[in-house]
Amino acid sequence: MSMRRRTLLKVIVLGDSGVGKTSLMNQYVHKKFSQQYKATIGADFVTKELQIDDKLVTLQIWDTAGQERFQSLGVAFYRGADCCVLVYDVNVMKSFDTLDNWHEEFLKQANPPDPRAFPFILLGNKIDIDGGNSRVVSEKKAREWCASNGNIPYFETSAKEDYNVDDAFLCIAKAALVIEQGQDIYFQGIPEAGSESEQRGGCAC
Ligand code: GDP
Ligand code: MG
Repeated sequence: MSMRRRTLLKVIVLGDSGVGKTSLMNQYVHKKFSQQYKATIGADFVTKELQIDDKLVTLQIWDTAGQERFQSLGVAFYRGADCCVLVYDVNVMKSFDTLDNWHEEFLKQANPPDPRAFPFILLGNKIDIDGGNSRVVSEKKAREWCASNGNIPYFETSAKEDYNVDDAFLCIAKAALVIEQGQDIYFQGIPEAGSESEQRGGCAC
């Protein structure tokens, strides 16, 4: 059997400061949660390997470094994204109201070839707080927003309790993979590494 090419998928996570973007990533990649609030610092992205059907996939998940306060994330952040994850806090109305801005901002900055086909996913985070009693955005309202923006998949999550985090990121990876495979079809005319001639001839250098 031939070696399978590993697929690298770039995922970016957007939403207001404090909604739990970094916590969701930490929970997903490191299985850790911290109650302490610290402005995001350090690496631009974290990676996680997973298998989807027979494909090995590396998710490269990009976090902001707190610049989301100023909505100025720079082109490198958006460039080549395969999926955009939007996060809001179900207990904070403003974080839901600004989703339109994040959605628009992404489309403007990343400028995907077919904006309507580009995969977004919405996460309503912090559903654990006060047993749901302090929530101000209903699931119904969130789903309506998703429906009116091209049927965006929706997950309610808790980074703290590790609720729905794996399921959400699996959906994210699958959505990103669909876009990537579309590009593979586009490049079908170009001979793939590992083809018969490559194996015989080896590297040209
Ligand atoms: P970011 O600015 O969007 O990256 O948000 P952070 O991940 O830094 O989280 C902001 C604060 O919310 C931190 O104090 C986290 O501990 C807390 N937090 C994040 N997710 C959850 C959650 O699901 N439940 C609860 N109760 N707190 C959370
Ligand atoms: Mg953060």
